Amino acid sequence: MDILPFMHERAAQFSCPRCRRSLADCGLRLLQQRGSHYTVQVTCRTCDLTLVVALELRSEADTPREAIPAQRVARPAPPPLSGEEVLDVHLRLRDLNGPLTDLLRPPDHG
Ligand SMILES: [Zn+2]
Repeated sequence: MDILPFMHERAAQFSCPRCRRSLADCGLRLLQQRGSHYTVQVTCRTCDLTLVVALELRSEADTPREAIPAQRVARPAPPPLSGEEVLDVHLRLRDLNGPLTDLLRPPDHG
């Protein structure tokens, strides 16, 4: 991408930090470009103040919404049912005299 015309277009919206004049007609010089990183020298035409601006171009395509993948929490598998537990349920069902909701109560160990 040719950054200078883009910069020139945007420069009009900014004013020189020293003389407060618009940077619309500032001088622009591309000092360095590395990938999407640009270093541009901006020179105020009024007071000759020189600014060096570092830019990084980003587009939606370049920056996926999830740059960091959501960490997947691995749930440990529940331990296999032991024979004892099955027997306990079996005995509670066998001895059940009341409503099924009685099964929801903790077993009576007394
Ligand atoms: Zn100036």
